[in-house]
Amino acid sequence: MPADQLTFDNPLERYSRVEPPLQHQDEPAVQDKMSPVPDLGEKTYRGTGRLRGRKALITGGDSGIGGATAIAFAREGADVAIVYRAGEEDDAAHVLTEITNAGCTGHAIVADLAHAPDCQRAVSEALDALGGLDILVSNAGKQTAVESVLDLPDEQFELTFQTNLFAFFRLVKAALPHLPAGASIIATASLEAYKPAPDRLDYAASKAAINNFAKGLAQQLAPKGIRVNVVAPGPTWTALQVSDGVSDDQMVHFDDESTYRRAGQPAEIAPAFVFLASAESSYVSGETLNVNGGMVTP
Ligand code: NAD
Ligand code: MG
Repeated sequence: MPADQLTFDNPLERYSRVEPPLQHQDEPAVQDKMSPVPDLGEKTYRGTGRLRGRKALITGGDSGIGGATAIAFAREGADVAIVYRAGEEDDAAHVLTEITNAGCTGHAIVADLAHAPDCQRAVSEALDALGGLDILVSNAGKQTAVESVLDLPDEQFELTFQTNLFAFFRLVKAALPHLPAGASIIATASLEAYKPAPDRLDYAASKAAINNFAKGLAQQLAPKGIRVNVVAPGPTWTALQVSDGVSDDQMVHFDDESTYRRAGQPAEIAPAFVFLASAESSYVSGETLNVNGGMVTP
């Protein structure tokens, strides 16, 4: 672990291999019960004032990539509302404490984003709690590995798309009337959008659709001065992996999936969101920023 994210080091050695022991939790998995617990940058992320005064809504902000992003945003000076699922209270409380310790307003919203009215409510609660919104991060995601297409239930296919893609669309619809020029919309796709694993058909297809939707939306919203971008992480050690996101065999070999031969930590993905939310990326829209440990993408 580096002293802070700005420290120069050998990226292959910045974090050690996770070498996860085989473990399993029902969905939604609680990050706090994982072994090892993913690194959200609690000890390392150093803010430089890049989001001072901004107001952000982050779905799946209780843990993993969304949790690390929430902490980074707060340390950059943003007020942050996070959306989590019932059952993730402990993880949400941990991130909320980090947000308020950074001296910013934090607000936690429990919602099931696969349910259309909850998307609308999450946005209106965030608007009320923060007094406005200029960053929307659609990051909540569902990933359930199924070996054969013959065993992939229609219900799962639908729920994966509801959670990953429809929620993004619905959050945008609810938030857009309130977003000023200069606002930033960021979605989370995946390496799977380009390189689908054979046992994640529904997940990978939903991630490809997120990329595509964001690129079209970026063009539609450009005249309003609203940017739309995507972060596409590679294999990152998070709660998604321990609740059937990958097979048992893939879990114990999780480090070997990336070119770096180690899994990424959520703390290493969050700076990409900071860049896309900040004014530094003013000339960046319709882009997908791949953060994947050296995996080549088209
Ligand atoms: P995570 O489990 O820590 O976060 C996912 C979050 O999604 C959960 O905390 C949960 O609050 C939320 N969520 C899921 N279903 C929901 C629902 N119905 N309603 C409300 N919230 C719901 O795992 P993560 O890996 O940090 O996932 C964050 C994003 O990163 C996801 O979109 C995931 O697909 C993407 N991603 C992860 C990896 C990886 O290797 N971990 C790689 C590429 C992309
Ligand atoms: Mg979680």
